[in-house]
Amino acid sequence: MKESKNRMIYLDNNATTQVAPEVIEAMLPFLGERYGNPSSIHRFGGMVRKHIDRAREQVAALIGAAPSEIVFTSCGTESDNIAIQGMRARHGNQTRFVTSTVEHPAVRNVCRRMKERGVEVHEVGVDGDGRLDVEQVRALPLDEHTMLTFMWANNETGVLFPIEQLAALAGERGCSLHTDAVQAVGKIPVDVGSLPMDYLALSGHKLHAPKGVGALYVRTGAALEPLMYGGHQEDGRRPGTENVASIVGLGVACEVAQRALDEENRHVRAMRDRLERELLAHCAGAKRNGHPAERLPNTANVSFEFIEGEAILLLLDEIGVAASSGSACTTGSLEPSHVMRAMDIPYTLAHSSIRFSLSRYTTDEDIDTVVREMPTIIERLRGISPYVTQTERSK
Ligand code: PLP
Repeated sequence: MKESKNRMIYLDNNATTQVAPEVIEAMLPFLGERYGNPSSIHRFGGMVRKHIDRAREQVAALIGAAPSEIVFTSCGTESDNIAIQGMRARHGNQTRFVTSTVEHPAVRNVCRRMKERGVEVHEVGVDGDGRLDVEQVRALPLDEHTMLTFMWANNETGVLFPIEQLAALAGERGCSLHTDAVQAVGKIPVDVGSLPMDYLALSGHKLHAPKGVGALYVRTGAALEPLMYGGHQEDGRRPGTENVASIVGLGVACEVAQRALDEENRHVRAMRDRLERELLAHCAGAKRNGHPAERLPNTANVSFEFIEGEAILLLLDEIGVAASSGSACTTGSLEPSHVMRAMDIPYTLAHSSIRFSLSRYTTDEDIDTVVREMPTIIERLRGISPYVTQTERSK
């Protein structure tokens, strides 16, 4: 097995993405000569302020919001926290959160913290394909003190939640709806104009903008309690001098994503489908995790029964291929991820799951390499796996 073309084959785009060249170019002046503080009234400030305004329009356009509904933050985690902790700040211990068992720690852990502080939290389970049944949410007590907080797309499996149905339910029962759309924005069409929701979190580094910038959509009229108090930036909703270069970068990344979405979707989906098809056909013990259709176009999560996911990652890394087992945030722990457990995936499969996540920079040649090398990697590891019996091996 040789490292192909001496270049990394990066299939870990749900962990983070390459910053787009157009984004870097747009950011550079703000790391150089355009260093003014956007709050200053002199021209150094003024010339910077208008670029933040432009970025706000670009982010809003990608998700069908009004620019005034966009609050810039430092990351997806912060956006989720503002929405969730703000609800608790307004409703005290009357607050009720309804969420799922497969949320990212950015939502899961803040909900758990709220529970420790006396708030009612319901975690609704998913089926074996990672899907949510809205009827289970409907069966719960829901009122104006309730916030539904559900991810739009799962970071590990790519499975999509029925946000449209959740929005309708929230409307019927008068609850707030927050969605963690960190993995959805830039990968599938997102239009808050046609989906009545209150809050939506997104993150720059998942859509080819830099790390350290995110945004929270706050519907006009929806309450917002800041996490921090300070100056008047972002209308006091998120004080602190703006990370100008990254905000400008996020704006451009959103504009590029909007332009390229349909075409990219088609191409990325075709590559993902080919990768998955070939792995399932040619690797012993391979099984897909997650619903085959209701998921992001860029994500394939495949288990290779009886083999440690970490071992596969190491051999992939040797040939220059970057993928992930579970989400990056769970790496380091030998336990199968909470997402695999919630889907009731048997231990020997959950432990061997690999996530391949593609992007617009993935090429057909990248997929050729992985498809060519994986069966050998799997054979090699099955050969030394204590779980594979002699009979299994000779099949
Ligand atoms: N939500 C989801 C679904 C994610 O995948 C991530 C990051 O992996 C986050 C939230 C957190 O975003 P950030 O890394 O910008 O804090």
